[in-house]
Amino acid sequence: MSDIAGHPGVYPVISRALLLSASQQLRNMASIGGNLLQRTRCTYYRDVAMPCNKRQPGSGCPAISGANRMHAVLGTSDFCVATHASDVAVALVALGAEIRLVSATGSRTVKLADLYRLPGDTPEVETDLRPGELISEVLVPRLDWASRSTYVKVRDRQSYEFALCSAAVALDIQDSRIVDARVAVGGVATVPWRLAAVEAALRGAPATPAAFEAATSVAADGARPLSANGFKVSLLQRTVVRALLELTEGSG
Ligand SMILES: Cc1cc2nc3c(=O)[nH]c(=O)nc-3n(C[C@H](O)[C@H](O)[C@H](O)COP(=O)(O)OP(=O)(O)OC[C@H]3O[C@@H](n4cnc5c(N)ncnc54)[C@H](O)[C@@H]3O)c2cc1C
Repeated sequence: MSDIAGHPGVYPVISRALLLSASQQLRNMASIGGNLLQRTRCTYYRDVAMPCNKRQPGSGCPAISGANRMHAVLGTSDFCVATHASDVAVALVALGAEIRLVSATGSRTVKLADLYRLPGDTPEVETDLRPGELISEVLVPRLDWASRSTYVKVRDRQSYEFALCSAAVALDIQDSRIVDARVAVGGVATVPWRLAAVEAALRGAPATPAAFEAATSVAADGARPLSANGFKVSLLQRTVVRALLELTEGSG
């Protein structure tokens, strides 16, 4: 993770997502494949004394009626509300990255976004990875305009903490108008969550705070807040707006 974060050929959104992940020591040791396939930080999943449908199918999800401030509002089911933990996955999904999977019997390339499964009624199955497959490469499409990209991570403390909400954004701006946009969010969904409707609303709009507010008004559509995480609905929109503003401040 540290090697990729510091590589000059990497888009800022990827580099920033990595640098805001874990700690320097962890980043020095962890791999990109391991980060993309890390398990959720849901406290009920981690506490083996508790029931958890993801760890023990059919045992229940205590988070739904329990301590759920950190949990997901998008992509949830009646069986699981755990968030996806990876930061760099959010950046890679925003950019439409693919991964190459190799096994003893061959190889295939899939969109990273398609690797992750929504929990549905089988939250124990998190990806479409087949037995024996390894991630051997991450392929990021060349988007020259993604040099204007960033990753904003909102968390309870400013270091060594998972996201309450994060936003990966890239903007192609020409003559003060948005020609293309990539937007994905983390910390609020069960998988890295691309906001295609926000991207569509940004295309053709002026690069102004008012247009950002309008385009992101649909960001949390479909959200199902729990007892303690309703704040994520508005935080989601505000985090995306903040990332868009960061990309345009001072650009005239
Ligand atoms: C205290 C703490 C805080 C953290 N904070 C953050 C954070 O804020 N943001 C964030 O994004 N991450 C965070 N992480 C995750 C961390 O950055 C690592 O990515 C994670 O711990 C995985 O480590 P690893 O690379 O050693 O993978 P491993 O633990 O070795 O692997 C994880 C899983 O992936 C599988 N795997 C590994 N490589 C491959 C491959 N190439 N192909 C197929 N399967 C593979 C392994 O078999 C295993 O199942 C945190 C971790 C800790 C412990």
